[in-house]
Amino acid sequence: MSQGDFQTALQQLKQALYSHEQWHRDIIRSIVCRMPYDLRDTQPDAHRQCRFGQWYYSETSSVLRVQAGFAAIETEHKRMHAFAAHMLITLAQTDLIKPEDYDNFTNSVERLRLEMQSLISELEYSLYKLDPLTGAENRVEMLPVLRQELALVQRNAHASSIMIMDLDHFKRINDTHGHVVGDSVLATAVRYAKTILRPYDRIFRYGGEEFLVLLPQTSLDEAQAVAERIREALHDQVLAHDHEVAVSITTSAGVGLLEPNLTVEESITRADTALYAAKQGGRNQVRVSAPASPFTAGTA
Ligand code: GH3
Ligand code: MG
Ligand code: MG
Repeated sequence: MSQGDFQTALQQLKQALYSHEQWHRDIIRSIVCRMPYDLRDTQPDAHRQCRFGQWYYSETSSVLRVQAGFAAIETEHKRMHAFAAHMLITLAQTDLIKPEDYDNFTNSVERLRLEMQSLISELEYSLYKLDPLTGAENRVEMLPVLRQELALVQRNAHASSIMIMDLDHFKRINDTHGHVVGDSVLATAVRYAKTILRPYDRIFRYGGEEFLVLLPQTSLDEAQAVAERIREALHDQVLAHDHEVAVSITTSAGVGLLEPNLTVEESITRADTALYAAKQGGRNQVRVSAPASPFTAGTA
C-alpha cells in the first residue's frame, strides 16, 4: 500500500466519521421531534446504506482492511444500526422506546466512536513514523527500536542481526536522469527489499540512499542470506524509466550481529565497516562483520 493511498483512506475515514456523527444527530432529532425518519434506517442492510457504510464497503477503504481496528468497527457499526432499526420500528408500533433499547443504542454509538477515533490515532501515528518518499521507517524511531531489541538479545540469548544497505553510485543516477527519477528508484528499491523481508523485520531510512534493516531473532548466516537475496533481487532490476531508458542499480550491504556486549551504536559501526569493505571490494556485494564475541556466533 502506498503512503498516498493510506493518506487518502485516512482523510476519508475522518470524513466518514463526520457523516456518521451527522447521521446520529438526524436520527435523534427525528425521534425526539417525532418527525418522519429515513426508511432505509429500518432495513436489515441499513449499515450499508448510510454514508459511513457506503464508504466502509468501498474500494478506497480496502487499504485499511489489514488494520485490526478496521474489522472491529464493522461489527460495532452493524450492531448499532440493528439497535437503531429496532428503536424506530418499536416507536412506530407502540409510540414508545424502552429505556434499555435506548441505552443499548447509545452505548453502541459510544463504542463505535471510540473505535473509530483509536483507528484514526493509530493511522496517524503510523504515517508520522514513515518516511513519505520510501515508506521505510524514519530514523527517529530507529535507535529506540534497536535498543529494545538489544535488551531482548541480552535477556533471551537469541541472536538478532542488522544490515546496512546502500545503493551503488546513486549520485550518477541523479546526475544522469535527474532527481525525480532518483526518487523513483529509491522508492522502488525499498518496495523490492520489503518483498524479501519478513513482516517483523524493520527497515529504517538511515541516510539519503542508505537503509538500516533490523532482523530480529536472526543468526548472522541467515542475515547474510537475506542480504544476498535483496542484493540479487535489486541487481539489474529495472527500477524506473526515464523516457525510454530503463534505469537499474546495484546495492552493497554490510551485515553484523546486534552484539550483546556492545552498544547499539557500536554494532551499527561494525555493520557500517562491513559496508565500507563491500564498497571497496567493488560494490554489488554483501560483507559480514565477524562476531565480536565468539559465544554468539551464528546462534539463533
Ligand atoms: P556509493 O556507491 O559509494 O554509495 O556512491 P553514491 O553515489 O551512491 O554515494 P554518495 O554518498 O556520493 O551519493 C549519494 C547520493 O544520493 C547523493 C544525494 O544527492 C543522493 N540522494 C540522497 N537522498 C536522496 C533522495 O531522497 N532523492 C534523490 N533523488 N537523491 C538522493
Ligand atoms: Mg550510495
Ligand atoms: Mg550513501
